[in-house]
Amino acid sequence: MTAEFKIKPQEPANTSTNSGELTCRNCKGRLSRIKRSSFAKFLLFGLPFKKYICYKCSRKTYRWVSN
Ligand SMILES: [Zn+2]
Repeated sequence: MTAEFKIKPQEPANTSTNSGELTCRNCKGRLSRIKRSSFAKFLLFGLPFKKYICYKCSRKTYRWVSN
């Protein structure tokens, strides 16, 4: 009996400098991680969402973190 595992090849590392840094869709400013509220924590329990804020335009956004 043989078990076969298919492993998806990892996407090639992006050569651009935006690794790990997210930018605001509104003003292209840098987004900063903030803690989720307990309510959001409850809603998004188990989901890899992270909350970010842009201090330039005070917009808050959730981003899906898939790793
Ligand atoms: Zn912004």
